[in-house]
Parts: sequence; structure tokens; C-alpha cells
Amino acid sequence: MKKSAPALSVCPQCHSYKLPHRVCPVCNYYDGRKVVEDEKSSK
Ligand SMILES: [Zn+2]
Repeated sequence: MKKSAPALSVCPQCHSYKLPHRVCPVCNYYDGRKVVEDEKSSK
């Protein structure tokens, strides 16, 4: 199976690659807003 170009977006905040329609894992911004996830149980 050949992978085509990964569907990545560039975060407008920190300009890192991130998954589209996802909160940026680097700066936690999404759509110009800071998003705080409540997922302490998974880590
Ligand atoms: Zn970011």
C-alpha cells in the first residue's frame, strides 16, 4: 500500500504540521482559539 501525501494542515499559531480539524498538539490552538482537552485519564 502506497501512502499518498499525508493530509496535514499547518497550524496558524505555531506553524507546525497538525491533523486537519484537530487541535494542534503543539500549542493547543484550533480555529484561532485555545482548546484545553480534559483527557487526563489517557496519559
Ligand atoms: Zn499550533
